[in-house]
Amino acid sequence: MAALWEDVLYNELVIREAASLAVDAALLEGMLMRTEEEPNASDVVNYAPFTLLPSAVPSSLFEQAYAVQQDFNLLVDAISQNKEFLERTLANTIKVDDFTARLFRIYTQVLEEGLAQSVFLGINRSDYMFDRGADGTLALKQIEINTIAASFGGLTSRTLAVHRQVLKMLGKSEEASHLPPNNPSKGLALGIAKAWELYGSQSAVVMFLVEKVQRNIFDQRCVENELWNRNIRVIRKRFRDVFEKGSLDDARRLYIDGQEVAVVYYREGYVPQNYDLQNWEARLLLERSRAVKCPDIATQLAGTKKVQQELSRPGTLERLLPGHAESVARIRATFAGLYSLDLGEEGDKVAATAIADPDWFVLKPQREGGGNNLYGEELRQVLEKIKDSPERTSYILMDKIKPQPSKNYLLRAHTPLKVSECISELGIFGIYVRQGKEMVTNKSAGHLLRTKAVEHADGGVAAGVAVLDTPYLV
Ligand code: ADP
Ligand code: MG
Repeated sequence: MAALWEDVLYNELVIREAASLAVDAALLEGMLMRTEEEPNASDVVNYAPFTLLPSAVPSSLFEQAYAVQQDFNLLVDAISQNKEFLERTLANTIKVDDFTARLFRIYTQVLEEGLAQSVFLGINRSDYMFDRGADGTLALKQIEINTIAASFGGLTSRTLAVHRQVLKMLGKSEEASHLPPNNPSKGLALGIAKAWELYGSQSAVVMFLVEKVQRNIFDQRCVENELWNRNIRVIRKRFRDVFEKGSLDDARRLYIDGQEVAVVYYREGYVPQNYDLQNWEARLLLERSRAVKCPDIATQLAGTKKVQQELSRPGTLERLLPGHAESVARIRATFAGLYSLDLGEEGDKVAATAIADPDWFVLKPQREGGGNNLYGEELRQVLEKIKDSPERTSYILMDKIKPQPSKNYLLRAHTPLKVSECISELGIFGIYVRQGKEMVTNKSAGHLLRTKAVEHADGGVAAGVAVLDTPYLV
């Protein structure tokens, strides 16, 4: 790929002016985040970090990522309904990973009682990097699929307008007109609205379940506003509120503060730190209810790293999606090498290979939210230590994707302007709604490009590592 924007990249005067315009445009567009100092107040806010310039994305890979999204929606939904698969796949993991075990316990408990929920809503984001092969060609490789609290769809709906303006200012109006349209806020709201409608109670509300620290509230507000525009009432609650004020009636309808809840949209509950005993109780209450959970606990389990690894085994996709040969082929084409570290001969071999050549692999625990994976020397040390213990099974191993870096400026408050060597990760949002056995809606819902400096192996936007970006198709 030829380098983009070479003509302006090192012109300090032009770059300074562009950065200043870009930051103001971001604020005007509402690409906002609360500050680290005051994460729960909107008196002082800042812009969400972003790249000065759009980054090159091969159009064929961009199209491929969109084309496979409905397949991934189908797959996640199928896994969430396959008790036998989830049980078998997570059997060893839940022996050693307490968080997955607790989720799994709620999952079985709810199934034993019988599901009250009949409408299902999935909002997921499948993330990819562009892997550079030995011959220089780039391939779309999935990093992971997020089935709970996939974020930044709201804010990134506003990134496009900012980059369009920057390009115009740089005399690149033609290029500006070619940035692909993107509006995940609308796409996600469409899914939530459809689920709300099928739930079938005009007076019921949509409940955003939110974390204690809400720096990223504007990302959620973007989706919320789309719902208000459709005259759907939205409330924001914490697990604590559910524990204290939530209840179920005889038909297991969920009420909080006297309001019936049609849809629970989790932007919380994806890491162990989100839970204390009361929060686990609240989670159980929500899962038992008739309300549409986005996601239900089965779908959250479908998004674990262990499930991702098992999907890559020959024959697994075919068994999960019988009669969908084309979907299976599209999905499989995006898989990188994934390896089980379960105890036994297969896992021993994998561990030995990774210890010998750690730079080719990433070691992943069953965690979300960035910053948990291990690389290089650290990977070697950890694997050395746990290679003969059951703890090994709480991890999976993955081939390391090696993308082609490019140059850009990462704009972040209180940070000096300097050119960085960067790599990008493309996420595609997907939504689906199922009523009973019938898939009512299955769509892609926009994209998210996140870019970070190459020196950071891991970490997303919320973790302060990656920044929002816009794809420039080449
Ligand atoms: P999380 O659930 O914490 O987001 P991910 O699997 O998405 O976990 O990994 C976090 C980050 O680590 C990714 O955003 C990416 O930057 C990096 N990463 C993950 N897997 C790989 C891989 N196979 N090759 C290269 N980088 C990876
Ligand atoms: Mg991730």
